[in-house]
Amino acid sequence: MNKEFEHLIGLSQLNQDISEIKPQISNHEKVLKKSANKIENIKNDIETTKENIVNTQQNVSKNNTHLKDLSTQLKDITKKSKKAKTQKEVNAVQIEEDIAKSSISFTNDEITRLQNIIELKKSQNKEKQEELKIEKKLFDKLSKSIKGEIKELNTKINEIKKQKTALAKYVDKKLLNFYENIQRWAKETAVVKVKNKACYGCFMKISNKTYNLLKLGNDINVCDSCGRIIYIEKNID
Ligand SMILES: [Zn+2]
Repeated sequence: MNKEFEHLIGLSQLNQDISEIKPQISNHEKVLKKSANKIENIKNDIETTKENIVNTQQNVSKNNTHLKDLSTQLKDITKKSKKAKTQKEVNAVQIEEDIAKSSISFTNDEITRLQNIIELKKSQNKEKQEELKIEKKLFDKLSKSIKGEIKELNTKINEIKKQKTALAKYVDKKLLNFYENIQRWAKETAVVKVKNKACYGCFMKISNKTYNLLKLGNDINVCDSCGRIIYIEKNID
């Protein structure tokens, strides 16, 4: 195998190394994003509950106004009952009074029910605030360590890129262009081994003619099926 081709294999290996690091970075970013989303969801929950409390409080106010009206109504009825003369009139006023009283009792119950809801929502929000504090702390901790790891991985990538630039100098420009064209679609498998007479990019058998050329190892060879650059590893068939 000629030296230049060995450099190309090295270059291809370095590209593979980079392609293995990149998913690690995006995995880290996903973890961080997940934690940030959790915080966002809790904040949204708190806001929704706050709006809910305000709405319920308005509802309580409405019921209180209604209660005032009802008690004025009841006073009027009481006045009327004093003026009632016949039994029929007394009965009629009695019915009015019963209705007003039951409305008052119903409205009072409704206010109590709404106030209970408000208390429940307030205590839920208190819990959510605690949860938010914990999540924020977790995020800060996570963010510190993950950002450090991402930085390390990016440093690794930059080092590999430097090695690539250094190595590329030893590879003929034409060959480099050829490789880069294949790399565009084959990504990190632009240069692959041949094992058991099969291309390790597309896993198709290669022709005897190509295989014999490969064994001579003088030239750059490509797979008959997929067009990737192929080579035979030393001491391996
Ligand atoms: Zn192939």
